[in-house]
Amino acid sequence: MTSTPSRVERIRERLTEADVDALLITDPYNRRYASGFSGSNGWLVIAADDSRPPVLATDFRYLEQAAQESPSFEVVQMKGKMEQWWGELARPLGRVRLGFESGAITVAAHKQLRDINAKLPAGQRPALVQTNQIVESVRACKDETELALLRRAAQLTDESFAHVESTMEAGWTETRVSWEIEQYARSHGAEAMAFESIVAAGPWGARPHARPRDEAIGEAEPIVIDMGARYRGYCADMTRTIVLGPPDVQFPRIYDTVLAAHDTAAQMIEPGMSGKVADQLARQVIVDAGYGEHFGHGLGHGVGLQIHETPHLGITSTDTLEAGMVITIEPGIYLPDWGGVRIEDMGLLEEDGFHSFAGTPKLRFVS
Ligand code: ZN
Ligand code: ZN
Repeated sequence: MTSTPSRVERIRERLTEADVDALLITDPYNRRYASGFSGSNGWLVIAADDSRPPVLATDFRYLEQAAQESPSFEVVQMKGKMEQWWGELARPLGRVRLGFESGAITVAAHKQLRDINAKLPAGQRPALVQTNQIVESVRACKDETELALLRRAAQLTDESFAHVESTMEAGWTETRVSWEIEQYARSHGAEAMAFESIVAAGPWGARPHARPRDEAIGEAEPIVIDMGARYRGYCADMTRTIVLGPPDVQFPRIYDTVLAAHDTAAQMIEPGMSGKVADQLARQVIVDAGYGEHFGHGLGHGVGLQIHETPHLGITSTDTLEAGMVITIEPGIYLPDWGGVRIEDMGLLEEDGFHSFAGTPKLRFVS
């Protein structure tokens, strides 16, 4: 909890830049990040004026939990309809510019909010202003508490992978591999998987987001395993491509190309670089090997409370990488009738470069 006030401080700093006096937070991940509150319902109001305590509004089910998890927040009960409690949140603010999160409110909820707000007396009515990505941009750089949780999630991911890799054999189905991973992760401290694991053998692996099938895995097929444990809200993300038995003749060349692309990016990415340039580092290696058209997705993404967060590393990225960001590096090559190879590490970008959290070794072919 020691880190929570500093998160609120970091959000406050961005409010002036965004030209608002206070921010209404309705996104569930932003709520948890800013307040520490892990319940499923609640809104936050954070004023730029630091003499006002931040407010957490939630319903009666969570009042006790809210007080316990968010001691620096004033807890307000959402009692009855929004008409009944909105004034309690809005009136103390008065005639200020109150930002709302345009990415985290439905059109219907926004209309309701606007209508109810309009009924407040003019002197006590905030002006609702659209904002975008304020808390998300703060979340992109992780604090020490978050880094410890992300490292633990990565460690659980390594252990789960090691368990399944050492036990699986030809004839297991993809769904069984996925279940063995989850079972191991959850019985060793993961609260859930960060996402449904991808286990895709042979041509099925040519789909970057393939769902596991009830199909037996054969020898010599490339098997893409993309997985991550979730630990106290924080996600891990790692991909390894393996083969049971000796691989076919194409595999080492494709695998080495992806590995070279991964390692090039991992060695050269640095703060200040754009997400687009970072992507290009890896992409060029794959293009030079003649597989450019078979790397159809971006190089990576931020990870934290959500599996995909700011920044985006890809051709269309407009993000700039900063020290403190936790990102993935995950180039791949996908050949429709053959299969796929993807190699993904998640790690921390520091001043001196990228430091992977993944402890799982990668296949190396000595040529
Ligand atoms: Zn992944
Ligand atoms: Zn990923």
